[in-house]
Amino acid sequence: MIKHDVVVVGGGLAGMRAAVEAAEAGADVAIVSKMHPVRSHSGAAQGGINAALGNREDDSPENHAFDCVKGSDYLGDQDSIEAMAEDAPRQIVWLEHRGCIFSRLPDGRIAQRPFGGAGSPRTCYSADVTGLVILHTLWEQLERFNVKVYEEYFATALCIEDGIGTGVVAYNMRSGELELVTAKATIFATGGLGRVYAKTTNGYASTGDGMAIAYRAGIPLMDMEFVQFHPTSLKENGVLLSEAARGEGAYLLNSEGERFMFKYAPNKGELASRDVVSRAEWTEITEGRGIDGCVMLDLRHLGREKILERLPQIRELALDATGKDAIDTPIPILPGMHYAMGGIETDKFGATRIPGVYAAGEVACVSVHGANRLGGNSLLETIVFGARSAKHAVQYIKSVGNVRSSDKTLANEKDRIAAILARTGGERHSAVRKQINNLMSDNVFIFRNDAELTTATNGLREAREAAATMTVMDKSKTFNTDLVGLLETEFLMDVAQPIAFGALKRTESRGAQSRTDFPNRDDENWMKHSLMHYKGQKADPEADYSREVTYTKYKPEVRSY
Ligand SMILES: Cc1cc2nc3c(=O)[nH]c(=O)nc-3n(C[C@H](O)[C@H](O)[C@H](O)COP(=O)(O)OP(=O)(O)OC[C@H]3O[C@@H](n4cnc5c(N)ncnc54)[C@H](O)[C@@H]3O)c2cc1C
Repeated sequence: MIKHDVVVVGGGLAGMRAAVEAAEAGADVAIVSKMHPVRSHSGAAQGGINAALGNREDDSPENHAFDCVKGSDYLGDQDSIEAMAEDAPRQIVWLEHRGCIFSRLPDGRIAQRPFGGAGSPRTCYSADVTGLVILHTLWEQLERFNVKVYEEYFATALCIEDGIGTGVVAYNMRSGELELVTAKATIFATGGLGRVYAKTTNGYASTGDGMAIAYRAGIPLMDMEFVQFHPTSLKENGVLLSEAARGEGAYLLNSEGERFMFKYAPNKGELASRDVVSRAEWTEITEGRGIDGCVMLDLRHLGREKILERLPQIRELALDATGKDAIDTPIPILPGMHYAMGGIETDKFGATRIPGVYAAGEVACVSVHGANRLGGNSLLETIVFGARSAKHAVQYIKSVGNVRSSDKTLANEKDRIAAILARTGGERHSAVRKQINNLMSDNVFIFRNDAELTTATNGLREAREAAATMTVMDKSKTFNTDLVGLLETEFLMDVAQPIAFGALKRTESRGAQSRTDFPNRDDENWMKHSLMHYKGQKADPEADYSREVTYTKYKPEVRSY
C-alpha cells in the first residue's frame, strides 16, 4: 500500500504547485497522475497569466479584483477573488525566482499584454507558450524536492473513513492492479472536462475525472452550467488560437470585412470578455455574415516580425491545420468549448465539505470566475490556489493522527472493475461518448433554450442507461487503454448531467449562460451558486441553491464592455 501525508491527484500546474508548497513546508507529499506531469493540459496554455505587478501606475490588485468580479457577471465570490488578485504579484515573483522565463520589456521588467475584460495590460507571458514554461519550472522544483510521482496511476475513487478523506484508489495502468493510496490530506488537481463536448480546445485527458470522483463521494459540484466557449478556435480541429492574438491587436472580421465587435462592445471591441465575443461571433454567423460557418481572425497588420516574435505558435498551429499563413492571410475561426468555470465546491482555501479533501485548479470551483472567466486568470488560479490549498492541507494534517486505510473502498472498486471486465454484449464506450458529445454540442452551446436543454437532459437519461452496459474488448492487464477509456466515459457522463440540468434550471442569462428564452440577468432570483448533488448512477442530480454569493465591496451593476 502507498502511504503519504499529502497526496495530490494530478500533475498539472495546480497539482505541481500544491506539491512543491507542501514539500517546502516539510510534508511527505506525492503526486498521483494518469500521465507524466509535463504532458498535462496546462502545457498547452499559450497566452499568459494575470498579475497587477505595478508596471503601470494605473493598475493594482484592487483593479484586477474588480475586473474579475465584473467578468464573472457578479457570481464570483469576492473574498476569493480578492485573495487571488492580492497574491498574484507574489506568485509571479515566486515563479521568477525559481527560474521561470517571462518575456521582458526593453528595460528588463516583466512584459504584460492586454487581455479581454481587463482594465490594464496585466497578462505576463512567455511568448505564446506560457503554460509550458511554467510547467517545466515547476517540474524542476519537484525534482529539487524529490517529490515522489506515481505516474500512469489513474485515480478511480475517493476514500472516506469516519467522515474524513483518507486518500484515493488508483488503477496502476502498468500492472493493471488497483492500489490504495492512503493520505491524511488529498488534493484534487485533475483539471477540466472539455471532452464532454464533441469539439474542444482541451487535451484528450480533460475528462472531468476529479469532479466525478468527488461528486460520487458526496461532495457537490458548483456552478457547472457555466461553460466557457473561447472565441478563437480552429474550425478544422477545435485547436485554440490564444487570446494573445487579439491582445497583440488582431481583428475579428465578418464576411463583409467589417470589424463587427464594436457593434457589441463599443469600448473594448475584440477585447471584450469571452462570453461577449463568442456570442457576437455566433450572432454574425447565424445571421448570415459568416464565411463557411466561421468568422476571420486577422493578424496581417501586426506584421511578420511581431507575429514571429510574440505569436509564433499561433501562426504554426493555424498553418498546420488550415495551410494558411497568418502573416498574409486571415484565419477562419469560431467559438469552441474551452473551460469549466464550475467544479468541486470549495471554500476560499480550497477545502471541500469533507475534512482532508481539497481541490485546486480547473477541477475546483472556489469561486473566482463566477459565470465567466477572464483570460489569464486560470493559470493564476492554478498557482495561487495550488499553493493555498497545500498550505491549508499541511496545517490540517498536524491535527490528524494515523488515518485508517480504506480497504472497503478498494474492495468495492475491485468488484466494480471486475464486473466491467466481465461484461459482454453491451454498448461500446466510444458510442456512448459520442452520444454524450453530440447531445452537449448540439443542445448546451453558447445560446440555450428550454427545448434544447430538455432534449439534452432527456438524452442524457438515455445515455445513462446505455452507459450502465458499456463493455471493453480488451480484457488484458497491461496498459488497458480500452478500460481507461470506459472509466473516463463514465466520468464524462457524471459531469455532463450537472451542466445540462444546471443550465435548464437556471432561468436567466448571466455570463456564459445565455438563455434566449430568459435573456436578462435576474439578480433577485438567481444571484446564487448552483450546487448539484449526486444521487446515484440511475438518478438525476439534485439541485440546491442554498449557497449565497459572497460580497465584499463590489455591488452588482449592469455589465457592458
Ligand atoms: C489550449 C489551452 C490554452 C490555454 N491558455 C490559457 C492561458 O493562456 N492562460 C490561462 O490563464 N489559462 C489558459 N488555459 C486554461 C488553463 O491552461 C487550464 O485551466 C489550467 O492549466 C488547468 O490546470 P490544472 O492543473 O488544473 O489541470 P491540468 O493541467 O489539466 O492537469 C490535470 C492533471 O490531472 C491528471 N489527472 C486527470 N485525471 C486523473 C485521474 N483520474 N487520475 C490521476 N491523475 C489524473 C492529469 O494527468 C494531469 O496531470 C488554456 C487552456 C487550454 C486548453
